[in-house]
Amino acid sequence: MRSLSYVLLLWLLTGQPCSADDIKQTDLFKRIKTSIDAVPAIDTHDHLRAFAELPNRVNTPQGKGMTLHSIFQGSYYQWTNPLTPWPASGEFDEWWETAQHDFVDARATSFYRYLLPGFSDLYGVDFDTITTVQARKLNQAIFENYQDDTWLKDVVINRANIELMFIDPYWQRLKFSREYKFAVPLLNVTTIMQASHSDRFPAATNSPFAFADSRGMSTETLEDLLKVIDRIFAEAVAANCVCLKSTQAYQRTLRYEDVSQDRAEQAYLRAPKDVTAEQQKDFEDFMFWHVCKLSAKYDLPFQIHTGQARVQGSNPILLVDAIAANPATKFILFHGGYPWVGETGVIAMRHKNVWIDSCWLPTLSYTMGKRAYQEWLEAVPSDRIMWGADTVNAEGIYAATEFTRRCIAEALAEKVQRGELREEHANHIARQIMRDNALKLFPNLKRMLWRKPL
Ligand SMILES: [Zn+2]
Repeated sequence: MRSLSYVLLLWLLTGQPCSADDIKQTDLFKRIKTSIDAVPAIDTHDHLRAFAELPNRVNTPQGKGMTLHSIFQGSYYQWTNPLTPWPASGEFDEWWETAQHDFVDARATSFYRYLLPGFSDLYGVDFDTITTVQARKLNQAIFENYQDDTWLKDVVINRANIELMFIDPYWQRLKFSREYKFAVPLLNVTTIMQASHSDRFPAATNSPFAFADSRGMSTETLEDLLKVIDRIFAEAVAANCVCLKSTQAYQRTLRYEDVSQDRAEQAYLRAPKDVTAEQQKDFEDFMFWHVCKLSAKYDLPFQIHTGQARVQGSNPILLVDAIAANPATKFILFHGGYPWVGETGVIAMRHKNVWIDSCWLPTLSYTMGKRAYQEWLEAVPSDRIMWGADTVNAEGIYAATEFTRRCIAEALAEKVQRGELREEHANHIARQIMRDNALKLFPNLKRMLWRKPL
């Protein structure tokens, strides 16, 4: 315990109320944080599009561009908090007049707080106390930073210190392009697993039927479709994809039964309106198990969205039968299964073919994130945990990365302070989570590293 006078002195010096129990004020935390900051990160989950296609640009009197509104619109903030729409006039002052009051109930939410380092560290602005003059200047600075891609690349590479970033291209799942030297492609299989009929695909870029047409392949029978899917996997591997990704937890339960091909055929090539929910589920269940087999065949670990989504069916426990029956498939449970972080831990403890990805977790709840890192490290070897920023623009990526580094540093520093871990081992674990575990699980990444070794 520190003395009361020390706390009062800190308060006087910094102008901030400061608890003696806040580990972030200790030299121990600062040393571990500095060590984590120095790790060139491998971010195993993000959604960064080509610069020209970055989302949320709006019209302004200076032309179309990124604004303060764009940063909030392209963040998780607005999943739970109000955001005044950008006005037709395109005038920042008109927007800010009402938008400045949007944040009143959001101050403690992680969906708001994770963004703060993006403003404080990149622009020198404390958003909690921002004035109208500062907000106007911040908006203008953001607009100017996006006139070309220099800022975006500088923030990702130098400020967020990210060497490689997995990009989940849900907007073009079957096009394996690499827009940045730090980009790592992957195969998003969400729509492949729903492919009972071509009408389920409004966008050709996501459709295995359109893919088959472009390759002159038949889709007349389910057996034909499976050949097309095999071809998709082969092309994905040839294009350096390193893993699979599914976000079906947003649409359906994660309980996938081991359904026979005969039963799956009942839905195949029948119009969506003629297929019952049960028949479509059978089809998707069969396809999930098929994809698990292809995951093992092509050595593409399977990233699966678990937790926060359609929460009545997204508990990772629902996956355990499929995990146990497919021991050659490497499963990666995303988002730490939030809020089922303990369940995620015990699944990884019981099954050696399971890894935990904490991407998005500190952004969902910083406190749950910190608790999860501490619990997982007690239950699971430290080489089975990864992280990802899971967002769409420079400010969001920087902010989520900084928030995660801080969360991991705090989790580890507390353990060191309690005598549960040595400091050098904490630094080793931090490096594993931020970088080394991804290199171990995805050996092909080594070919894509572009920085000089430290
Ligand atoms: Zn994501």
